[in-house]
Amino acid sequence: MTDLTVENLSVVYGQAIAALDDVTMTVSEGRMTALMGANGAGKSTVLKAISGVLEFERGRISTGRVTFGGQQLNDIPVHRRSRMGVAHVREGRHILSNMTVEENLDVAGFAAPPRSKAETARIADRIYGYFPVLGERRRGTAGYLSGGEQQMLAIGRAIAAEPRVMLVDEASLGLAPMIAEQIFEILGRINADTGLTILIVEQNVGLALRYAEYVYVLENGRVALEGTRDTIGTREEISARYLGGD
Ligand code: ATP
Repeated sequence: MTDLTVENLSVVYGQAIAALDDVTMTVSEGRMTALMGANGAGKSTVLKAISGVLEFERGRISTGRVTFGGQQLNDIPVHRRSRMGVAHVREGRHILSNMTVEENLDVAGFAAPPRSKAETARIADRIYGYFPVLGERRRGTAGYLSGGEQQMLAIGRAIAAEPRVMLVDEASLGLAPMIAEQIFEILGRINADTGLTILIVEQNVGLALRYAEYVYVLENGRVALEGTRDTIGTREEISARYLGGD
């Protein structure tokens, strides 16, 4: 199984800021898993430790490990992790604003092993199939897309690298509820169609519980609660207890 695991992971930033404390999680192959928690609970740090971008923020793993398909990732540089199939859609929609939608997808594809023109076009078409609005705007400048469309492009860029696991940080942030729902519906479809393993960080408890099969809740850098969508508790309970109400 190509599961992704985080085992007894502790992370510090700089000299002393402890962001994660003994976090253990399994992201099962082919599933959609969610990570929830209040601001500052450590959610983004988990994703950064998995993709490796932690090192760019003066963060480091003090104890524990990250594994993918049984292989330890801790000391593997970011670009090699992405070649191994780990894609990270970071918070804040990292897109190339001055380039077209099409160019954004092409450039993102360079993270994958070299491919032919036909292959590149096939992958772009698959992305436009999931996000038709990106297809319509393929020659448009990415910076002029709406917030929701930019989030779609950020996800499209991750898919262009043909990952085996996709980490998605706060996809719904700042979006109208209908647009956020649409993006999650598409993520759910991608997961169901292709079996792509997806780990989402999400503060919208309702969305996370609707789309993820298994859920973790972080509190002050520790796993406070975990379980399947059906057993973990209601949206109201989780919101009130861990996210400061709803
Ligand atoms: P948010 O929803 O606000 O993004 P989060 O749950 O994703 O929150 P993290 O961003 O992982 O939380 O942050 C966890 C803790 O680590 C917080 O106390 C935060 O202030 C701290 N932290 C995060 N990034 C850094 C950094 N680059 N340098 C120092 N401290 C950091």
